[in-house]
Amino acid sequence: MKIQFLGAAKEVTGSCILIETRRSKFLLDCGQRQGQDAESSPEFQFNPGEIDFVILSHAHIDHSGLLPKLVAEGFDGEIYSTVATRDVAELLLEDSAKIQKEAAESEVGLMPVFTEEDVALTMDKFSVYEWNVPIDASDDVTVTFLDAGHILGASISVIDISGAGRLVYTGDIGHGHSPIMNPPAKLNNTDFLIIESTYGAKRHPAVNPKERLKQIILDTYANKGKVLIPAFAVGRSQEILYILKQLYEEKKLPNIPVYFDTPLGAETTSLYRHHQNYLRAGFRSSFLKGENPFHFGTLDFIRGNNRSLDVASSEEPCVVIAASGMLTGGRILNHLETTLEDPDSSLVFVGYQAEGTPGREILDGKKRVEIAGKEYEVKLKVHYIPGLSAHADADGLFSFVNSASILPKKIFVVHGEPENAEALRRRIINNLRIDTFVPEMGYTENFMDREVVKVVEKDVHLDFRPEFTKVGELEVYPFTGALLKKQDGIHLISKEQYIGILTETEEELETMLAKVRSKAGLETEAEAAEPAEGISEMAFKEELLKYADAGIFSRSRARELKSMLEEEGRDATIAHINKLARKDRLYPLDATKQEVLRRVLVAGINSFPQKARELFEDISER
Ligand SMILES: [Zn+2]
Ligand SMILES: [Zn+2]
Repeated sequence: MKIQFLGAAKEVTGSCILIETRRSKFLLDCGQRQGQDAESSPEFQFNPGEIDFVILSHAHIDHSGLLPKLVAEGFDGEIYSTVATRDVAELLLEDSAKIQKEAAESEVGLMPVFTEEDVALTMDKFSVYEWNVPIDASDDVTVTFLDAGHILGASISVIDISGAGRLVYTGDIGHGHSPIMNPPAKLNNTDFLIIESTYGAKRHPAVNPKERLKQIILDTYANKGKVLIPAFAVGRSQEILYILKQLYEEKKLPNIPVYFDTPLGAETTSLYRHHQNYLRAGFRSSFLKGENPFHFGTLDFIRGNNRSLDVASSEEPCVVIAASGMLTGGRILNHLETTLEDPDSSLVFVGYQAEGTPGREILDGKKRVEIAGKEYEVKLKVHYIPGLSAHADADGLFSFVNSASILPKKIFVVHGEPENAEALRRRIINNLRIDTFVPEMGYTENFMDREVVKVVEKDVHLDFRPEFTKVGELEVYPFTGALLKKQDGIHLISKEQYIGILTETEEELETMLAKVRSKAGLETEAEAAEPAEGISEMAFKEELLKYADAGIFSRSRARELKSMLEEEGRDATIAHINKLARKDRLYPLDATKQEVLRRVLVAGINSFPQKARELFEDISER
């Protein structure tokens, strides 16, 4: 199997991955890049006529936007997706074709990348399925879609390739707290994983998006300004409408008109009704009761561009939701033109702003921006509400990987700017010891096909490939791939199928695993993570509290060290800590953390014995 990364490599947009197996050649997504330097119609790095099929994770244009071009240039296979993804993609691609046509008409020399006819031909290629249904995509490839919890129809693709193993492609995954979308499905087991990393270095702060939005609207209304909310027509828009409806019904909003300004208009929201089986059960109930969860008294759907221009030029305070989400085009530009320089108005970002987009420049605080060829001074107030993003944050991404029952052997991190992709990579390597890589645009990885040794233990079946993976200089064996829990204990299944009973209890197992990890070379990792020999008082306190909060440094340990410091003094206490660590008793579950904790304790007690005693006392009384 060969994997080539042709988009969203060290960036967020333009998702496209080419996979070649012994008998098939296919794409994972075929998206458009966004951002000012993005070429609207880049050359494909392959011959579209040679592609057997496409697996489409979801409808967002950065994943689907070049499908019509692919078809126009000779692709003649199937496009596999969920039913809902096809319907949303049709809406978004048609909309994109219209926008391109309008732009081409008003600007000499500008050519649309694709036309409405191309979109129609593209829609004929779709072959659609529901979640959890195995699809025989070709002779040697089977695909199963799982709920990604991102936008309507969005899927995680589980791809089984005969002779090569299983590959999971996350597409974009949701954060699990949406009132509309389900939490993403769990990663069960896979050999290879391609994971998005939009927020790989960030944590969504615990702000209540509803409260924030309410406050921004109230403040702006008091100043007689407008609230502009750029958002993809499908996804965040519905979440915002739903929140606004709640606020409206709770009578927490002033009597302010809300415009949903997109030529897709009410169609997007009726798609949600049509595909309600893709949504959270609790949310579906409002459809069942015959209500429209996105509609309320002051909401107005704008279809035509003239009406949009009228609203944009009027001075009446209002809320406007319009695409595109990153200010790269669409109706939001009508409103920015009249509102960007109005200090009484507000611009509220609710989604990720990719590098190079006007949205990112404004969010980064730039005061002069160029949008669609015109220069503006940014005078309105700029807000960002992170809790409304459709993406999992750093913790969500990590726990998606960590939740796997059998950890992947190799992970590729895509769909994230370098800082985010790198943070996720490091976290996975440091905590899970999985070979993890951030590919560059164009990078190709070749996997040797290999025989799958089928291990069958009574009613437990495992596909098992006993191979070591290189992580830096270490040869690591992904032992988590072959632990077998049975009535008489936990077994490690190897090439020879069976080594024997390892332990009787899970506790013992944890201790044993810690030793395996430590043998795998975690000590060298610990050195990299170690605090400096001389630690500042502040750092000592912070580090130790972190370990106490994580349950690694226990209250009873704090009590023990406090009395030792009082009774036997500094050197004896340090010697005691070193002894505990040597015997693997300071934190038996994780050799790395144990070593860092040991160093923090030794350095802190050495430099500030009195402070250390007080800190131990505080922790022991928590
Ligand atoms: Zn997306
Ligand atoms: Zn995306």
